Amino acid sequence: MTSNALLCFCGSQQPYADCCEPFHLKTKQPHTPEQLMRARYSAYAVKNAVFVRESYAKEKQAENSISEIKDFANSCRFINLTVLDSGYNDETGFVTFKAHYFYQDLYCQLAENSRFIKEDGQWRYLDGEITPVADIKVKRNDTCPCGSNKKYKKCHSV
Ligand SMILES: [Zn+2]
Ligand SMILES: [Zn+2]
Repeated sequence: MTSNALLCFCGSQQPYADCCEPFHLKTKQPHTPEQLMRARYSAYAVKNAVFVRESYAKEKQAENSISEIKDFANSCRFINLTVLDSGYNDETGFVTFKAHYFYQDLYCQLAENSRFIKEDGQWRYLDGEITPVADIKVKRNDTCPCGSNKKYKKCHSV
């Protein structure tokens, strides 16, 4: 790994080229629900709405349009992902995670226990149970909640 390699958006501390990018390029398939979950988060960060949609279970694809996924991805600044727990068997799996992002001037945490199923030999995202976390309104002179110790206006502010 070279020092200027782009680190993956999913928080793995691996280069994007060795982590989620091969899944986005479809040169590799995720072997575990956690890999798929990470690839979905990274896909939001790089605004790859097609990947996000295709990684849904077939029955869920109709209700998640590419334009809606794109609108959401475009209106957020994604900070990081924390995978708290995950597991799987031959047919189903789960990932418990927290995703951190800004939506306008709100700092948001998505805490979810998500379910995955295998379809045609591939892991797909079925649905998730969300634990409500209050969004935090950030003002320009506040310390940025991303952990940079900079003021919000000099960091993640739009
Ligand atoms: Zn990754
Ligand atoms: Zn920040």
